[in-house]
Amino acid sequence: MRAVQYRTIGGEPEVVEVPTPEPGPGQVRLRVTAAGLCHSDSFVMGLPADQYTYGLPLTLGHEGAGVVDALGDGVTGVSVGDAVAVYGPWGCGQCHACARGAENYCTRAAELGIQPPGLGSPGALAEYMLVDDVRHLVPLGDLDPVATVSLTDAGLTPYHAIVSSLGALPPGGTAVVIGAGGLGHVAIQLLRAISGATVIALDISDEKLQLAKELGAHHVLRSDDDAAARIRELTGGVGAAAVFDIVGAQATIDLARSVVAIGGVVQIVGIGGGTLPTGFFSTPMGAAVRAPYWGTRTELMEVLDLARAGAVHVEVERFTLDQAPEAYRRLHAGTIRGRAVVVP
Ligand code: NAD
Ligand code: ZN
Ligand code: ZN
Repeated sequence: MRAVQYRTIGGEPEVVEVPTPEPGPGQVRLRVTAAGLCHSDSFVMGLPADQYTYGLPLTLGHEGAGVVDALGDGVTGVSVGDAVAVYGPWGCGQCHACARGAENYCTRAAELGIQPPGLGSPGALAEYMLVDDVRHLVPLGDLDPVATVSLTDAGLTPYHAIVSSLGALPPGGTAVVIGAGGLGHVAIQLLRAISGATVIALDISDEKLQLAKELGAHHVLRSDDDAAARIRELTGGVGAAAVFDIVGAQATIDLARSVVAIGGVVQIVGIGGGTLPTGFFSTPMGAAVRAPYWGTRTELMEVLDLARAGAVHVEVERFTLDQAPEAYRRLHAGTIRGRAVVVP
């Protein structure tokens, strides 16, 4: 089968021919119907050798959807032909966090060497992929896999961050979304769907700001030196009850810190490497700072239900497997509208 692999540190992803995997006991093989490209892939491929922990060659793709194609020994609960989405943050299935579906916070995954598909285990950017357990499959029903696949990360990750902010974000409060790319453009729709917040979206690209406006942001602002003052103005001086920094660079984190309201929350979703000093004299009274990771299994089901209800969708640019390297270059250059999705 063909697969898109990262093969040498600092190299470009390559389309290569590899053996089609056979499902072992408990595993499910999917014929991949769609795979999304995430900025985290660019981050991983930008790591120097001494910080790279994902193995080589790495078949990329941690947003996956497919049709069940073959079952390993002992697998029950799914049938060949079922259309499914893959829950990516695989955990042990046994610890306290996993037991409540929060495998993204599995306390034993590192110790057991469990890694998500595309981030250590072979990922979805291939004609076929293996999934280690049926509990990592969520039925798609009649949802279109190409339109839906990115909800497994670009939807799930902001959903998880937003749900855990709702206590600080009353109707009428302001939510700031920094970065209106793959995750951000879904975050805006999620906020409109499940909160009564006024949404202010920031980006450095006019095209992304235009998209943010079309998707329901009440205000859009360029992410520059005037942004903090504009947000204060728009909130009558109060600031933002919740800030979702989906870039995470030092400049955006500094902005987040300067606009968060008393009692508000900053969710650092982007992995741009910035830090936010937190303390009595550093952040507003009662403000919380959190760096969430991906989302839970039940939250993925909820995001898919929101899509079924028509409340959220992903703006998709389609690519073939052969075009995946080009799609990664476009993602790196910041010119993808919404999400790049590969259809093998
Ligand atoms: P993306 O490239 O699709 O979108 C990033 C957006 O940020 C682009 O629209 C870009 O124009 C904008 N941007 C860049 N610099 C900016 C700035 N200074 N101010 C405002 N906007 C700016 O990326 P994505 O796939 O949506 O990922 C976003 C971030 O989230 C990445 O850092 C990614 O690694 C991270 N991520 C984290 C998790 C998690 O679990 N915490 C999960 C997925 C992705
Ligand atoms: Zn991702
Ligand atoms: Zn666990």
